[in-house]
Amino acid sequence: MQTDESTTRAAAFPPTAILPDHLAYDAHRISFNGTVDRRPAVIVPCSSTADVVVAVRSARAAGLPIAVRGGGHSVAGHGVADGALTVDLRGMRSVTVDPERRLAVAQGGALWEDVDGATVPHGLATTGGTFVDTGIGGLTLTGGIGYLMGTAGLTCDNLVGAEVVTASGEVVRAGPDGDPDLLWALRGGGGNFGVVTEFVFALHPVGALQSGNVSFPLADARTALAAAAELARTGPDELCLFVVGPGADQEDGVAPDPSAPLMIRVSIAFQGSAAELDRIIEPVRRLPGAVVAIGSVTYSELQARTGILPFGLRHYWKGHFVRDLDGPAIEAVVRAMETTPDGMSFMLLEAINGKARIEPPGGAAFGQRAARWNVSALAIWEAAADDERMRDWARVAADGLNGSSLSGAGYGNYAGADEPEERVRAAFGPERFERLVAVKSRYDPDNVFRFNHNIRPD
Ligand code: FAD
Repeated sequence: MQTDESTTRAAAFPPTAILPDHLAYDAHRISFNGTVDRRPAVIVPCSSTADVVVAVRSARAAGLPIAVRGGGHSVAGHGVADGALTVDLRGMRSVTVDPERRLAVAQGGALWEDVDGATVPHGLATTGGTFVDTGIGGLTLTGGIGYLMGTAGLTCDNLVGAEVVTASGEVVRAGPDGDPDLLWALRGGGGNFGVVTEFVFALHPVGALQSGNVSFPLADARTALAAAAELARTGPDELCLFVVGPGADQEDGVAPDPSAPLMIRVSIAFQGSAAELDRIIEPVRRLPGAVVAIGSVTYSELQARTGILPFGLRHYWKGHFVRDLDGPAIEAVVRAMETTPDGMSFMLLEAINGKARIEPPGGAAFGQRAARWNVSALAIWEAAADDERMRDWARVAADGLNGSSLSGAGYGNYAGADEPEERVRAAFGPERFERLVAVKSRYDPDNVFRFNHNIRPD
């Protein structure tokens, strides 16, 4: 039996709205992160910009704040919020490509597999997430680290235009054909400014690719990290380097063998020939104990190499963008790897190289590109009883990097729901933060879009 209040509210929402007494409610509020269990007041599935306008206006009329659900991969679970209206963009995944102008236009709920699926047949791609089931929305709006970043820049640098439904339910354009300041803010400032219903990405030709790992026993982590650090300093833009450990020596995407010895992997993606790559990584592959497994791949194979992580595992991720992987940072990473709790947790190090270190034309709000590495502790586990132990490991691991941190902050896209305001500010620095507050105050003066790493209006 519905209460008077819920009857009134239901009447105010679009007919597709999913209220708590709807059979599909629980399925629609599920988060990637199993620690997130929130109950929105209403979930509104949208399949067009017009639907988003209606959803936003109905939230405002009902006095509800708004959460935005794109691909649903937010570790902080920001797409679902207690008592909010969730604008659910899962029905908005279409992508069109203009190969002549090298542009892709993607709807706000598209996943990377949708974008790649449309662009790769034209021999084109933009820097995308390394897990193809991640949403373009959250990833682009807070940065975007991917295999092509050395030659093409971060994902947000490739955002050249956008259509946005603002807090007042207006449809505006960001970019040269609209508000350039809003485009600047969307390039790293997160989901603070409205619902992005259309992302326009610059595309780049993709040629020959090599991908694989140089693995070492965990006992050789210091040597492996020092060699990877030097390679990141001296390597070409075409070389993308990640380091992952500890883990079993296994093929990407294959279930780990618990009896296998623990390894650290220097993970490589290279845009060029096998011979060129061999020469570039010689100092790493010649190290004692190195096991090399690298081969030619297509872009789609590269994007699929990590497989997918299922929804429902428990996650807590924390880290820092570090100035460089110098002695103290290496010691902190080795300590964290040696104390990694059992299960699926690991340290992830992503070298920020080439074009990702250079502001795109028009600038970007993203404020961490002077860092050489993004270093994060990824705690991943299954049982709620382990929550505190796992979170503690990630917190201690991140604290160990304090002295090497570029600005005192990590990557917003990996941060948990408990990310404090000072880390959100530190990620931008005072000047960028002030400019973001000004854009926020113009487009969302009531902070209706507050379920994000929040930039509060004036
Ligand atoms: P959602 O949970 O749907 O959205 C998160 C938030 O983003 C929303 O609450 C909202 O504030 C905002 N948002 C999303 N879509 C829109 C929109 N259309 N308009 C306005 N706001 C919107 N990051 C990388 O940079 N590179 C990687 O390779 C990478 N790999 C990942 C792999 C996994 C398995 C996971 C879990 C995360 C990974 N990430 C990576 C981090 C990823 O960028 C963030 O989790 C990001 O938030 C995912 O976006 P989403 O749209 O799927 O998330």
